[in-house]
Amino acid sequence: MDQYAVVGNPIAHSKSPSIHTYFAEQTQQTLTYSTLLGDDIEFENQIRAFLASDGKGLNVTLPFKERAYAMCDVLSKRAEQAGAVNTIVMSENGDLFGDNTDGIGMVRDMIDNHGQTLKGKRVLVLGAGGAVRGVLEPILSEQPKSVTIANRTVEKAHVLARHFECLASTFEDLEGAFDIIINGTSASLSGRLPPLKDELVGEQTWCYDMMYGADRTVFLAWAHQRGANGADGLGMLVGQAAEAFYLWRNVRPETASLVALMRKQMEDC
Ligand code: NDP
Repeated sequence: MDQYAVVGNPIAHSKSPSIHTYFAEQTQQTLTYSTLLGDDIEFENQIRAFLASDGKGLNVTLPFKERAYAMCDVLSKRAEQAGAVNTIVMSENGDLFGDNTDGIGMVRDMIDNHGQTLKGKRVLVLGAGGAVRGVLEPILSEQPKSVTIANRTVEKAHVLARHFECLASTFEDLEGAFDIIINGTSASLSGRLPPLKDELVGEQTWCYDMMYGADRTVFLAWAHQRGANGADGLGMLVGQAAEAFYLWRNVRPETASLVALMRKQMEDC
């Protein structure tokens, strides 16, 4: 049977096995999907050993995405741009193909599940860490009017802005309303918000928080108080998995029903 796994450390609480098992049942694919506790020294050998013994593909999570990027023989454009790999596919000739599906997972979630388009929009991205680096190429491929990256450490925003040919700013220097604001900072994890001016939210603004949870995130609460709708990153998590599944099985699973199911499970906990 074709085998897949997610490798990371820690890994015990990963939602990927249940997500991929759901997709396999939905699309009537026969496969197994397990977790692999990544070892700091043996990581590359673990990947090769898994793929040598009937493993067809892997998801890679923290803290190994950059090491997966370094060991792949062939990279997708979005993995190259992200500098990180979250999906490995074993090619027929034995080459390791590395992709990064985090960004396209988020963009597909926005478009397919929330009816948002990025084309022609003024987009603000908060944060300049690994997650933001991974989403910029898929955002730019949707041809927004402009993309501004704002970060606490503004030098990091400038580095990304130079690489992706977009704009950089401090939070304080941001001006006017944006059509879409994406929070890719980890501030929400500790219940904090970057210092955002009220004027960033206009009548049409829609907000996305990459973080997700049972309760509304502080960023989405901030947006809601100013009259803006939005969504959290649960659909991004499911969306990146769906793109990986598509790469491996050439079948694209439907994601909305799983997002709804996981949302209910989180709320019931
Ligand atoms: P990183 O550690 O790489 O980057 C963190 C970013 O947050 C940096 O830009 C940092 O700014 C900024 N930051 C942290 N604390 C604050 C604060 N108090 N105020 C303002 N800015 C702050 O993290 P990741 O990029 O890996 O993850 C970012 C978020 O994305 C997390 O919430 C994570 O859960 C989420 N995520 C969600 C995914 C999903 O599938 N839904 C997938 C991947 C990530 P500075 O540079 O100044 O330190």
